[in-house]
Amino acid sequence: MKEFYAEILRGYQQFREKYTTGDHSVMQYLADNGQRPKVMVIACCDSRVDPALILQRDPGELFVVRNVANIVPPYEKDEMHHGTSAALEFGVCYLNVEHIIILGHSQCGGINALLNETELHQNDFISNWVSLIKPSNTEHLDQDTCAKQALLQSKLNCMTFPWLQEKVTEKLLTIHLWFFDIKTGQLFVFDEIQQLFLPPIFNT
Ligand SMILES: [Zn+2]
Repeated sequence: MKEFYAEILRGYQQFREKYTTGDHSVMQYLADNGQRPKVMVIACCDSRVDPALILQRDPGELFVVRNVANIVPPYEKDEMHHGTSAALEFGVCYLNVEHIIILGHSQCGGINALLNETELHQNDFISNWVSLIKPSNTEHLDQDTCAKQALLQSKLNCMTFPWLQEKVTEKLLTIHLWFFDIKTGQLFVFDEIQQLFLPPIFNT
């Protein structure tokens, strides 16, 4: 435990050196000018799928919400407590992000819980949460295919938020569905025309 603590604090020291020292302190700039991220990412809590690390972005560049299985719930304006929906509202209505990336990934524990409900049903919140993206037929569905289908459901759910739908219709906001393969570190982007996840096209 002691070693682990020393290790993570070393990371903190590196962060301080990189982002808070010198005449061009990134953090000082962000404190003075506020955050203006253009991109919001909805990612999984999985420790292997860190959007800022995968995309090599600095503080202030990505507005990120992470939850189990990177789910966008449907719009439900009630007295319950909707953390992901609150983050969406903040990103879309107050930060005016121009892109939302829903970042799914391979070997997702949340998706696994969805596909193996009977084994893992004894939990307080997980099964109920992931039931939001349950496909109509999970028989013979492998984990990664299910994770990709779940992204499509999350996009549909995005469009149930009236203020989000309005921005998409006005072309002020674009929703992207991305899938990250943990083993190879590769990203795949959903192509609307081909209805497939394909490697990203790099514009040099
Ligand atoms: Zn996951």
